[in-house]
Amino acid sequence: CGIVGIIGVEPVAPRLVDALRRLEYRGYDSAGVATLEDDRISRRRAEGKLGNLAQKLAFEPLAGNIGIGHTRWATHGAPTEGNAHPHATERVAVVHNGIIENFRELLADLAKDGYLPKTQTDTESVALWVTRELDRGSDPEFAVSSTLKHLRGAFALALMFKGHDRLLIAARKGAPLAIGYGTAEMYLGSDAMALAPFTSRLAYLEDGDWAVITPEGVTIRDGQDGIVQRELMISNASA
Ligand code: GLU
Repeated sequence: CGIVGIIGVEPVAPRLVDALRRLEYRGYDSAGVATLEDDRISRRRAEGKLGNLAQKLAFEPLAGNIGIGHTRWATHGAPTEGNAHPHATERVAVVHNGIIENFRELLADLAKDGYLPKTQTDTESVALWVTRELDRGSDPEFAVSSTLKHLRGAFALALMFKGHDRLLIAARKGAPLAIGYGTAEMYLGSDAMALAPFTSRLAYLEDGDWAVITPEGVTIRDGQDGIVQRELMISNASA
């Protein structure tokens, strides 16, 4: 299972799939990508091999210069197209590796406000919780930081927001995640292998970290929301 994200200067969907291929070795049962097309969150998802997703994209291409992608190893909810990531509302798209242990409690709380899941996954609780924060007037950064304080379990997360075509937010607790530094573009991914076609300059998040990524730079905060610096390294993973 794996995660990728690109804030690009040209269409990202084909490159998201290429990066996901480099994470195939981790195993997966389904896959998906989401981009912002004319400020609309658009998704393509498929059961089984990445070839199925690539075929879908060939028939119904996704435009958009920003996007996130995922290979799933199902823990909650059958490995169907409907349960495949990215999970999304009108406002936010989320990819997740790991398990949100308290998702049932989160969903019960969300249901009181009318936020109801459409899938059987633990992950959708994150998309809905962030959406409620955004609906209450929070900006993406605050919405994510307050959501993270409610999550129990292990996760690598990447989020993309309607209305913000130059922004990705990533978080890590118990599952690896790296930020990749390009020249005009920025990337995130589960490991250096996934990012090798794009860049060798990267910084690994540490446990509890979350990062606000824009083309202008990255702000990394720790679990107490204090700004931290993480070592920029040169990966020797081969493209
Ligand atoms: N728990 C999530 C799900 O079942 C994420 C699984 C994964 O790590 O791919 O959808």
